[in-house]
Amino acid sequence: MTLEEQQLRDEICRWGDSMFKRGYTAGSSGNLSARLPDGFLVTPTNSCLGYLEPARLSKLDPAGVAVSGDAPTKEIPLHLAFYEARPQAGGVVHLHSTYATALSCLEDTDPEDTIPSITPYVVMRVGRVPLIPYTHPGSTDTGILVKTLAPDHAAVLLANHGPVVSGRSFRDAVFAAEELEETAKLVLLTRQMSVRRLSNDLVTELDRRRKS
Ligand code: ZN
Repeated sequence: MTLEEQQLRDEICRWGDSMFKRGYTAGSSGNLSARLPDGFLVTPTNSCLGYLEPARLSKLDPAGVAVSGDAPTKEIPLHLAFYEARPQAGGVVHLHSTYATALSCLEDTDPEDTIPSITPYVVMRVGRVPLIPYTHPGSTDTGILVKTLAPDHAAVLLANHGPVVSGRSFRDAVFAAEELEETAKLVLLTRQMSVRRLSNDLVTELDRRRKS
């Protein structure tokens, strides 16, 4: 195993534990992945992100077929859709984090722009986040729908399910997923209040600074 793969395995387990401890994921929900030169690492099915083991992560070949480790998450299609549509993506994080998932369940969430631009950071780290219509977890339909939007969007929100976020590196994907969740929290906390949104001009300027 290369040093790069060993480091990525450690990083996935470290950040999984960190996100679990901070309440971004609960039980066996959520899954993580990272791109390798010879395939992908993904978290095993039914694993808890707080108790991952580097040697037991599932390794996939470049076509997405499991080659070693524990059986992979059934939500692989979500991850592969981003890697196939975004050659620049090095990591993907899928969570059922509370506030983003709450937004994904609301009838009046704008499907074109689920996370309103109320702070600059979500624009810079994530960009505009569209809603994917409901499909069953693990369905290949979900992957097909994500793939149509992924070339233009680093993240999507699955209706009544949760966010899927990509980044240039695995760590970037984690930071972007956290930013998305914290912004969703602000959006819901200020929902009945008069909120000053960033102007379209500001959003366009911030969007240019985004590197994802
Ligand atoms: Zn899920």
